Amino acid sequence: MLFSEVSSKLMKMEATTKRLELTSILGSLLEDAGDDLKELVYLIQGKLAPDYEGVQFGVSVKLIVKSLASVSGLRDEDVNRLFYKNGDLGTTASEIREKMSQRPLFNEELTVHYVYTKLLELAKSSGSGSVKGKIGIYADLMVNSHPDDIRYITRIIMGKLRLGVADSTILDSLVHAFSSKEYADIIETAYNFHPDIGFIATLLQKGHIENIKKIGPEPLIPFKVMLAERLRSIDEIREKMGHQASYEYKYDGLRTELHQKGETIKIFSRGLEETTENFPDIVNNFRKTYSFDSIIIDGESVPYNPDTGELFPFQMVSKRRGRKYQLVEKSTEIPLVMFIFDILELNGKSLVNMPYQERRKILEDNFKDNEYFRVATRLVSDDPREINKFFEKSIEDGCEGVVAKNISPESVYRAGARGWLWIKFKRDYQKELADSMDLVVIGAFNGHGRRAGTYGALLMASYNDETHAYESFTKLGTGFSDEVLFSFPKMFSDLIVDHKPAMVETKMEPDIWIYPQIVMEIQGAEITISPVHTCALGVIEKDSGLALRFPRLVKIRDDKTAEESTTTNEIIELYKMQKKTK
Ligand code: ATP
Repeated sequence: MLFSEVSSKLMKMEATTKRLELTSILGSLLEDAGDDLKELVYLIQGKLAPDYEGVQFGVSVKLIVKSLASVSGLRDEDVNRLFYKNGDLGTTASEIREKMSQRPLFNEELTVHYVYTKLLELAKSSGSGSVKGKIGIYADLMVNSHPDDIRYITRIIMGKLRLGVADSTILDSLVHAFSSKEYADIIETAYNFHPDIGFIATLLQKGHIENIKKIGPEPLIPFKVMLAERLRSIDEIREKMGHQASYEYKYDGLRTELHQKGETIKIFSRGLEETTENFPDIVNNFRKTYSFDSIIIDGESVPYNPDTGELFPFQMVSKRRGRKYQLVEKSTEIPLVMFIFDILELNGKSLVNMPYQERRKILEDNFKDNEYFRVATRLVSDDPREINKFFEKSIEDGCEGVVAKNISPESVYRAGARGWLWIKFKRDYQKELADSMDLVVIGAFNGHGRRAGTYGALLMASYNDETHAYESFTKLGTGFSDEVLFSFPKMFSDLIVDHKPAMVETKMEPDIWIYPQIVMEIQGAEITISPVHTCALGVIEKDSGLALRFPRLVKIRDDKTAEESTTTNEIIELYKMQKKTK
């Protein structure tokens, strides 16, 4: 496939404000990709491999500027001036290429495969001489590109290709193009255990549905963790479970998946990021204590006071700098313990289709509590008094509440799913509006008076995980410290887009549109029916959506991606819970 076909489709995707049009252009692009499909899906994501493989371009603005200057004969200052004017390196490269186009420069046919291979070469070049090497590779791409091509290639390299198509959108389009809806669940499950969109795309294109069915947990490949629904009381949980359930402490820490295969141990976050280096103690202790051929365990890492054994709230160690948790220095000061609550694989065998009780037994047989690893405290019961006592004890022991787990034969491990097999219950849920929500910033309104120079309010959305749209839900203007408030212009500067992104659904017109990426935890007073917001539009009442009244910022959740924010379905559930409490 010629890269120019990709560029022309990307231009259309960028221009549309309609979500369905976006997915239909994407679908036609994928259908035509042929042997280049795998490489194409990575490029559309602005990547070369799934995130957990850690392939980075390692390219600075300065390097691109130098390269542009070297091919065009311009001075670095001239390129910088153009960049300053455009605010986008892709546009700058495209303009420069346009001016050069009188000269016949092409000596390679710019195919998707050629671009992908060159970009991989660029990413892999490291060590001494790598800057020169990278400048040369970029210059080669520049020479062989049309102006539109180099615009997108540059944005890919700089991590600025914001098309609004997440993995889940691509997955839907792939099902549509190469398979049928009846397999959608199987394909999603496979993806949740092996979240590599390029790998799944190839299998689908080849029509290997049998191979897709076989995909399960694989040691050293992060899986999407199982999530819990919420209910408002122990009684409701008992009713929903219909029989005895296993009540586990809900630890307030950091979701941790630990994988081991042979000599290699890896830890991944809930966001599928490899964080092994942030858990040196846990990794060393695991290596010293256990000897499996392979294993995958799921749990929560929590800081604790080694003198008293008391658990600390996670905020104590979750101060972040950059993208990684700064746990390395902290872990010696404040040690972490991993509370294990599930096991997905052991010595080459997948356990995910076993019922919970069997998995739990395997867990207990293989892990005796020590300083770094403990199996989650639990109670199997159906007695309300006993369960309430257990809940109170969990709070006393520094936990947030309990997670009830279904113990029926159907209680398999469902990667990536939020369902009723697990139900969480926190003390907050007894309040009218049960829980805080993690919402995504989609726009901002200019500040006035004391807030001049920054944004006075933010337009916040929930994530609809069925349509992949961000639906506006509230206008947030309180709970900001001055520090946070005046950090907004810088925080958003890179995410401002000139029109409503296609995956955003709202009737409001903020002063600026912000590409959905930043997640904030918000506490509100009440969820109400709204004529202006589009969250759950038409679900509760015809032509109306839901809105959050009196929203207040709790904190910025930089550990969550936009797709991990509170879903519209969860908000509908919260609305129903609130109605019952009233
Ligand atoms: P919250 O903000 O309430 O923690 P969340 O969106 O991070 O919610 P949920 O699935 O809604 O995630 O709540 C379950 C979370 O609780 C898990 O992701 C996990 O990190 C944590 N947790 C603590 N203890 C347990 C446990 N015993 N079993 C399952 N999850 C647990």
